[in-house]
Amino acid sequence: MRDADSPYVAKVNVARHRVFQKRTPVLGSLDLELTERCNNNCIHCFINLLEDDAARQRELVTTDTQRILEEAAALGALTVRFTGGEPLLRENFIELYLFARRLGLKVLLFTNARLITPELADLFARIPPLEKIEVTVYGMKPQSYEAVSRVPGSYEEFRRGVGLLLERKIPFVVKGALLPPNSEEIDSFEIWAATLPAMESPPAFSMFFDLRGRRDSASKNRLIESVRMTPDEGVAILRRHGHSYLKETREFCRKFTGPPGDQLFFCGAGHNACVDAYGMLQPCLLMRHPDMVYDLTRGSLKIALTSFFPRLREEVRATNSDYLARCALCFLAGLCEQCPAKSWAEHGTLDTPVEYLCRVAHAQARDLGLLREGELSWEITDWKERIKQI
Ligand code: SF4
Ligand code: SF4
Repeated sequence: MRDADSPYVAKVNVARHRVFQKRTPVLGSLDLELTERCNNNCIHCFINLLEDDAARQRELVTTDTQRILEEAAALGALTVRFTGGEPLLRENFIELYLFARRLGLKVLLFTNARLITPELADLFARIPPLEKIEVTVYGMKPQSYEAVSRVPGSYEEFRRGVGLLLERKIPFVVKGALLPPNSEEIDSFEIWAATLPAMESPPAFSMFFDLRGRRDSASKNRLIESVRMTPDEGVAILRRHGHSYLKETREFCRKFTGPPGDQLFFCGAGHNACVDAYGMLQPCLLMRHPDMVYDLTRGSLKIALTSFFPRLREEVRATNSDYLARCALCFLAGLCEQCPAKSWAEHGTLDTPVEYLCRVAHAQARDLGLLREGELSWEITDWKERIKQI
């Protein structure tokens, strides 16, 4: 209520003000895929659509996206991640960015940086996102970058975008996607990354690439499979910064690995909110099985997070006999990236073991000393001892 004696000071009933009310946050952060369209056409991409009108017209209208942002903030979210496709392709990106910042949300932007203009960089300087922008890099030279992005001129635009961020001193980090055209450039990428002011550790790489989450293109899936590195090559990359990798992975195994039984969602899925470009709430960024998503244009984040997802986590169980004989008994679950979303992308079911991921996990486990040559993870009974000893 306003103090009648002062035009400047408003007295409020503290107990009733929302800031002081006891609120239990149900949401840590929100992931928003602003679009599946992209100005690149990367050879390994699990999501991108070309810049076509059909995809654009299906995207959420501004007011619906704003309503989701408001609800996320009311549920306690502190950060929204804008991702895609290329999120800067959303025509109303600036409007949504400002809306999120006015709600007090920090913005984490995932981008290829090609669409960073002087105006946008000025905006980020004036109204900072408060999270470091994350730029994915596909090569250190035009030839390698564009062999991945398949768009002539894209390298030049990426360098220009990054240059604008540097000029305005806008904090950003870079991460790489390791692919055959750029595999010789790891050193030069890491050396360059170390010169960037906001980089506090060596850049992360993605390399065990997922198939198309929408199961929309057999030919793209074949291309993705053809550019995946072998499990042993991947382990060699992971070990590049040997000591810290080994320490972290051993600690991770001690805390998080162990046979999951038939419960499929034993990961973090369903605890945070990931909304696709059309308003479907997914339990994680990858999971697009139509029965596992919740239509936010007809419901609310709160109901999804407090009722729909908890039920999924509890009720969805494996029935595939191959899964039950292997993954359900496997002590590498957790270390292995096998999960219902990846099973869906590869096989169109939630509970089929993904052979590539199985081979990667076995290679990692052999490297860590958890498995001997020829051993199969689901046959190991003394796994607790093995984990203690590494
Ligand atoms: S820039 Fe990202 S979203 Fe776009 S095609 Fe490449 S990997 Fe896919
Ligand atoms: S290592 Fe193989 S058996 Fe174990 S969880 Fe992964 S895919 Fe399943």
